Amino acid sequence: MADYIKPFPNIKNPIDGHIHMHRWYDTENNIDFLHGLEDYRRECGLKYIALAPLPSGNAIPVSRDVSNNIICAFYKLLNENTFSYGGYIYPSYPANAEKMQGMDFASQHRELIEIGFDGIKMLEGKPNLYSLVDNPLDSEFFEPAFSEMEKNGTYILMHVRDPECFWTEPTEERIRKKWYYGDGSYPSFDQFFEQIENVLKKHPQLNLCLAHFFFCSREPEKLAKLLDTYPNLTVDITPGGEMYIDFDKRAEYFKEFFEKYADRIIFGTDMDFPVYMEAGKWLCDRVYRFLATDEELMSFDDHRLKGIRIEQGALQKIFSDNLLEKLGGKPREINKEALKRYIEKYKHLIRDKDLARFIDELSQKYL
Ligand SMILES: [Zn+2]
Repeated sequence: MADYIKPFPNIKNPIDGHIHMHRWYDTENNIDFLHGLEDYRRECGLKYIALAPLPSGNAIPVSRDVSNNIICAFYKLLNENTFSYGGYIYPSYPANAEKMQGMDFASQHRELIEIGFDGIKMLEGKPNLYSLVDNPLDSEFFEPAFSEMEKNGTYILMHVRDPECFWTEPTEERIRKKWYYGDGSYPSFDQFFEQIENVLKKHPQLNLCLAHFFFCSREPEKLAKLLDTYPNLTVDITPGGEMYIDFDKRAEYFKEFFEKYADRIIFGTDMDFPVYMEAGKWLCDRVYRFLATDEELMSFDDHRLKGIRIEQGALQKIFSDNLLEKLGGKPREINKEALKRYIEKYKHLIRDKDLARFIDELSQKYL
């Protein structure tokens, strides 16, 4: 049924820079997570993957707590072609600095880097987590985090806002998932942009990658200005299919954009474990072919997209070089002692007690 070409022909060391681990166990196929993304990596012709843990929030699934950092650390320990970011955790919500004594941002940053994480993932700009944490991104609360990361040159993959229609079109699904932000209780689409602008004004050297093109596919001129101003800023092009449909509408403009900013754009899929392999292959294939060929493809939301065929040098940067350079060329090693200390310090925050026991078993076996 599928008409995939071999993914990433002519790209040296392709890397998927945006992947999640949602569970410890794939109940459908009866496999645990230990090597759960290796088939995906190999089948898609990827040399490396980079995991983005989601350890904050109190929503379902319950593994959205410190255990999500720990799973990614174990995965990295056991699979050599794996990078992983680490994420900040909060003892309770709304978050405030007082409650974070002993686990302030600087300490958490140090702990995560000591463990061997390759950067930091922040979901704190996604509106539903944003409202839970309940502190503006440009507030005093986050200031120590950004200072520390700027000082250390830490690579940060950050999700800020969502597609603009989440503010304007309250579909049933969006209301159910709490993904409708137009009820007045969230900052506006533009206000999120301004908060990030303020963070960058204060921390112009921040090594920040804004996920999903910063949802700027309808206002790329604004994004271009930001990229022109802040030399370390990058964006990833992890779908949201809506952004590819927007790219297609201004194909000439975006061809030029992708070539001009080729060293500021990073590939990712948002793939996760448990893996739905067809989706993973489809994503790698469609994103690659959209950028690399001028073929017409059935693509996101059943839109027929025509590839924009950017030059080979730009492709190599987007699918590999940019992120590898940011992350130091190869995955950092996991420091087992540091990981042990981290688990001991934070395991009381793991909500699923079976999972906590499983982590103890893993620690005894591998650390
Ligand atoms: Zn994601």
